[in-house]
This record gives sequence, C-alpha cells and structure tokens, in this order.
Amino acid sequence: MEKVIYLDNNATTRVDPAVLEAMFPFFTKEYGNPSSMHIFGGHIHAEVERARARVAALINADPSEIIFTSCGSESNNMAVFGGVGAISPDTTVITSRVEHPSVLEPCRELKERGHRVIEVGVMADGTLDIDGYSAALATPGKKFVSLMWANNETGVVFPMKQAAEKAQAAGAIFHTDAVQAVGKLNEVDVAKVPVNLLTLSGHKLHAPKGVGALYVRRGTRIKPFLRGGHQERGLRAGTENVPYIVGLGLAAELAAAELKNGASRIAVMRDRLEAGLLACPDASVNGNRKLRLPNTLNISFAYIEGEAILYHLSDAGICASSGSACTSGSLEPSHVIRAMGVPFTSVHGSIRFSFSKYNTEADVDHVLSVTPGVVDKLRALSPFVS
Ligand code: PLP
Repeated sequence: MEKVIYLDNNATTRVDPAVLEAMFPFFTKEYGNPSSMHIFGGHIHAEVERARARVAALINADPSEIIFTSCGSESNNMAVFGGVGAISPDTTVITSRVEHPSVLEPCRELKERGHRVIEVGVMADGTLDIDGYSAALATPGKKFVSLMWANNETGVVFPMKQAAEKAQAAGAIFHTDAVQAVGKLNEVDVAKVPVNLLTLSGHKLHAPKGVGALYVRRGTRIKPFLRGGHQERGLRAGTENVPYIVGLGLAAELAAAELKNGASRIAVMRDRLEAGLLACPDASVNGNRKLRLPNTLNISFAYIEGEAILYHLSDAGICASSGSACTSGSLEPSHVIRAMGVPFTSVHGSIRFSFSKYNTEADVDHVLSVTPGVVDKLRALSPFVS
C-alpha cells in the first residue's frame, strides 16, 4: 500500500520520535530498579520522579498526586473499585451511559455486588443530561461519581467543572476518565476543576501503549488495587515500568507545549473535512459541534453501513473507525450512538475521523477526494434507498 492516511488517533497515536529516543537508555544502560538503595537505583528513581513532575504539570497537579499505572483501563478500574471500596458498602455509584467499557463494566460489576448504580443519559447531541445528573446526585447517602471528560467516539466534552462542583456540593467523590481530553484541552486543570481522581493514558498523547496514570487528589482515599509492594505510595504494587514512564513524562511535556497552537491547527483541518463530507447527501454530524474535542469528527451517512465505508476507505489507504462493534457475528451499533438516539437509518453508518499533530491538509484533500465516491457507490447498492 502507498502512503497511509492515519485518522484514527482516538484509538491510538504514533509515538513521538523524541519520546522513543528518551526511552532507549532505560532498557540497556540505565536499567536499575528505582527502589534499589545503590546509586544505580537512585538515579533511576530521580528519572521516574522527573516524569511524575512532567505529567503533574500537564494537568496542574502536585507530583505526589500522580500514580503510574499500566494503561487508562487500569486507572479507570483502580478509580472505580478503589474509590468505591474506600467509602462504604452502601455507596451509590453514578456514571453515564456513554462511558468507556473500562468504567462501565466495573460499575456494572459493583451493581452485581449490591451497589445502587445510576447510569445518567445524554441528550441527542451527546451532551450530559444535567437534570438527570442532578437528580442522581440527590440520592441520599454516600456517592461516587465517574463521568468522562470527553467521549472517545463523538469527541463531545462534558461540562466537567459544573459536574465536579455539583458532586462536591453533594459530598460525592468524583472521578473523571480524561483519557481523550488530556493533551487536547487546555481546561484539563485540576486546580480549577475539583475532581478527586482523573485517568490519563500514554498512547493517546504520543507516548507508547501500556502506560497510564491516575491522579489522586491529596486527601482522597482509595483502596489499593494491586497489592504486595510499597511502590506508588503503596497504592499500586509492582516495579515501575521505567522506560515507559520516562516516555510518558516527555510526551506530557511536549503535549503541554503544543496544546495551544496544535489544537487550533488540528481543528481547522477537522472543520474542513467536516464541511466537505457534509456536502454528501444525507450526511449528519453525531455530537454537539461546539462542545467537542478539536480533533474528532463523528459523521453518519444514512442508509449505509459504517463498516462498508471503512473497508473502501482502507483500500484507499485511509484509516478511520466506525462506531459499531462486531459482537458475536452481528453488527451492533455503538452504545454511545444508541444512547444519543441517532435515527435507525443513520445509526449503522457512523464513521469517526480523529486527527493528531502528524496529520496534514493533504490528508484532508485525499479523504475528500475518495469518500463521496465511496458513499455514492454504497448507496447505489443499499436496500434502504429506492
Ligand atoms: N477511556 C477512554 C475514553 C478511551 O478512549 C480509552 C481507550 O480507547 C480508554 C479509557 C482505555 O485506555 P487504554 O487503552 O490505555 O487502556
């Protein structure tokens, strides 16, 4: 295949070459254990702490509030099980219907264990049902909330400051899955938004897959998830993945520096793609177009299957993704698109394009030169179009 146009950056991103370069010495020359007493360990410990400070700076936290984990999913599991576990067995758990499975499934497991779990809905444009959320917070007793900062499929951003402040006023512990927001939104700032716990993941911001972090605000109690070691303040046992942590540290610093300019350049490309694709008949954007990540476009082409579009785009070297997941042989529309009540005719035809700093205007030109033809061809074959 010739050049690949990669527009699936909400799935994962390319590791920044500078990040990879920074990681190398920690495999071969500087391979000491950060917990060792000797100088070889002490030096590595200092590098882990430098990375912690860089990650903390990206979200305006104190370094002592950052716990390194193996991924965003682990951080989410740790936050939900560990956060609820530290409260009491009768805690009510409040989340939304559009969370990532690494939040939804732990919440559903807690339901099976007897907790009351409330899944708040979203509006047709994917924004949070604030009235439903307020009603959930009015539940008497102890409460734990987990709401994502930005949705991975639509890019829709929840009103995090408002949601966290409401939770605080109701005495609830508040976790946010900010995997898609960190490094993309300036407002991810824990000094301004009173979250107790926040999840981030390396591979969404040009660090490698397999490293993440959980921010734990000073004073917030969580029950350790992995036990048997003093690492990470006793909250996450296991020798630290030093090269990956160093990589995440540098990626965080680069993301902080690029955030302002990068995001606006990316939004310009995304908007041009959106305008071009909306010129196709029966195309519609899923999600609020103003309250959205700058890099994400989720668009439905009515009467045709998203998977079929992806297949043809992939043939033309374009990597995007669909909102559907292939479950046991049947194509189920995504839980996010369904929660928004997208009409039946469009629910199967949703495609997500997600940009990164490595995309160019030429990528947009290529997608615009290919996609309308693919849509026309598939429409001609669709049983739903007369
Ligand atoms: N949360 C959201 C919103 C995500 O998009 C993802 C990854 O797609 C995750 C959590 C899981 O992160 P990881 O792949 O690092 O486990």
